This record gives sequence, C-alpha cells and structure tokens, in this order.
Amino acid sequence: MQTAHMDVIFFDREIETLPTERLRTLQESKLAALVEGTYGRNRFVTSKFDDVGARPGDVRTLEGLADLPFTTKVELQVAQDEGPLSTNCTFDEAAYTRIHQTSGTTGPPLRVFDTPQSWDWWGRCWGFVLAGAGLTAEDRLFVPFSFGPFIGFWAALGGAERIKALMISGGGRTSAQRLRLMADMEVTAMTCTPTYALRLAEVARDEGFDLSTIPMRITIHAGEPGANIPATKARIETAWGAKCYDHAGASEVGAHSFGCQAQSGGTHAIDSEFIVEVVDPVSGRPVSSGEDGELVITNLGRIGFPVFRYRTGDIVRVDTTVCPCGRTFTRFAGGVIGRTDDMAVVRGVNVYPTAVEQLVRSHDAVDEFRVTIKRDREMSEVLIEIECRDGADTEGTVRAVGRAFESSLGLRPEVVSVPRGTLPRFELKARRFLIT
Ligand SMILES: [Zn+2]
Repeated sequence: MQTAHMDVIFFDREIETLPTERLRTLQESKLAALVEGTYGRNRFVTSKFDDVGARPGDVRTLEGLADLPFTTKVELQVAQDEGPLSTNCTFDEAAYTRIHQTSGTTGPPLRVFDTPQSWDWWGRCWGFVLAGAGLTAEDRLFVPFSFGPFIGFWAALGGAERIKALMISGGGRTSAQRLRLMADMEVTAMTCTPTYALRLAEVARDEGFDLSTIPMRITIHAGEPGANIPATKARIETAWGAKCYDHAGASEVGAHSFGCQAQSGGTHAIDSEFIVEVVDPVSGRPVSSGEDGELVITNLGRIGFPVFRYRTGDIVRVDTTVCPCGRTFTRFAGGVIGRTDDMAVVRGVNVYPTAVEQLVRSHDAVDEFRVTIKRDREMSEVLIEIECRDGADTEGTVRAVGRAFESSLGLRPEVVSVPRGTLPRFELKARRFLIT
C-alpha cells in the first residue's frame, strides 16, 4: 500500500510523526518528570535507584536510564505482598480511584493501582490503538466481554471516548446473543482476543447466523498472538469481511503497541508514552538492530504506579525501515513474535507457539487445535490434536498438518483428530500449548 493512496487516520498526528530526535527529547523530558515525581516518594523506585547508587539527576537521558536495573514481575509481586497497597504506589491510598489486575494466567494476579491521571492515560494510549486501526467517530465499537478487573476492556472504552466512537459493551450474553446484538446495533468494529473472534465465527456457522449482516470493517486483537500470525489474521479477515489489527499491552506497563493501516505485518510502539528497549534475554545487553530480543519497557505516563525498565518477556525485532503510514514510532516486525518463557526445544529445534499456530491455521479444515510437548526421558515429542469442521477431509488434514510441520521445522509430530467440541474454547487468553 502506498502512502499516497492511504487515507491515514492519526490519533495525534503531530506526535506520531515527530522527527526521531524530537521524539527522543520528548521521551527524556517525560522521563525526567517521572523520576522527579517518584524518587523519594515511591519506596520501590527509590530502593531500585539506591541499590545501584543512581541519583535522580543521572536518569534524565536514555543512556542514564540504561544504567538502572531491570524491573521484573516477581519484584512487583513482592512489592504487592509487602502491602498494604504495594510499595510501588507513589501516593497514599486516597489518591487512587481504581484497581485493575493482570489476568492471572501465569501466576497470582498482580494488582495495579490507578489515579484519575493514570486511568485517563490508559484511555489516551488506546486512542492511539483505535485510531491506528483507522477507527473514527463514525464507528461503532463492540467489546464482547463482561467488564471485570482486567484493564483491557476499560481502556478500550477510554480510547473510544477519546476518538468519540460509539461503544457497545456485550457483557452478560452468550456468543449467539452477542452476534445478534452486533447485527442489531450495526457495529463496524470489535476488539477481543483473536481466539474469540474465531470462536464467534464458529458459533455463527453452527447457528446458521450470517456474519455479513454485521457491517464489520475493523477488528482489533490483543491478549495473545494471532492478529500477527498471517494464517490466523487471514482466517479472521475472511470470516468477518474486515481488516484485522494487532495490539499488544500488559497491565504491568500499559497498552504499548498497535497495528497501523499500512498492514505491514508489524506494530508500532507508542514512543510518546513509553521508552522501549530490546535486550538479549540472557545477558540483558541491547541486541543489534533487527535482531530478536526481549522487549523492556519504561512507562512514562503512570507516576502513581511507575515501572522503569520492565522485562515484559515478549520477544520482538525492530524494523528500521520507514512505515508507509508516515509514523516515526518504533516498528516491531511481526509484532510480539514469542515469549521468553514459552519457547520449547524439541530435538534441538526451537519451537515457538506462534510458528506452530501459523502452520496449523493454514489448514482451513481445522477449527481448533492443541499442541502438547511431551518430555519423555531425554526426548521431547510433539502431539498435535486437531478438531476439523463438519464434512472436512479429516484424514487428509491430519496428514497435511504433519507434512507441513515436518517440512517447516524438520520435526515429525504425532497428529490426531478429535471429535468436534472436545478441545477447550477460550474467551480471554487461550492455552493451546502444553508442556508436560
Ligand atoms: Zn505504520
């Protein structure tokens, strides 16, 4: 897609197209304000600085920031356990008006305390996400979930308010009822996990519901990889007749990156609200540009619950080419391409769940799947269970998935088909990869 032919929607055009040097100046001035606002007030931050002898005046540049130690999820968990709020709270409880928490799929939930300022800031970040996908005040955004303590839905609401789109919450309904509500309300956009977008399409097929009665044009996905996996993205786009966009964020740091209308298969970091670094997961040193590494994030917008150099566990690769959309924000080729903790090594081959999903989802007949890496003595084996849609050539699909796996990864998995409805379905974070 060429810039000249693309009607690019921005949330904040000036900020999103700032020359790199000015973007850096903006980041450093926000960083200095963050240090000023937290050092000496926030126990957790103050001890992080003191541990390495860093003085607040030292941390006013990107280089100065790089001298601070990383922050890990475990440290934030300990800070929470030390209570009564968390030692990472900068202010007294009276200053906070909201609590949100992580989804708790990988350990006990981590609570994050929000001030009106930081809650507002979440909405601002989601403004970049929604506008990045091309949403405008003309759109009707459907959020097919009940609103719990997980921040994603609330932040989407805040973002929709920022861009003045009409927002419809689909809480307290079955998937079939949600489909009818979407058709009745003529929704044009939806945000949910990629898994749930496919689940809704499956329910529509089972119920004989015609998805084309919903004038959907944009779907935005977060919570897990999928919108950045070409086969999954294509499947969602075909089912919904809409453009599919990726977004990544985490409660610990914020909504930090989004897909743009260039649809280049990657995402942009919101550099005006975060400082991103990509480091070697083992040594902690910066990787060369274009190399895979762990995403480390400093959040510039949350003085009440800051994080300096948070290790996200997400694997990214920076793309230094200029995006056709015109944004100068950092680009991640392929979005979040893996997790430092979910890669399995089978017979010496690195197996990323995203790569496996791409292989399996390329087969149209497969509705749902589950991969189990079985550690048997010294050897690991791969079991892939697939559920095929009714009337599909199940045996042929089993063979084809096995062949694709073998030619792409050089591994021979055991592929079996299971009856429809056997494998679990997910609304939030899917668990399709098991290591036993
Ligand atoms: Zn772009």
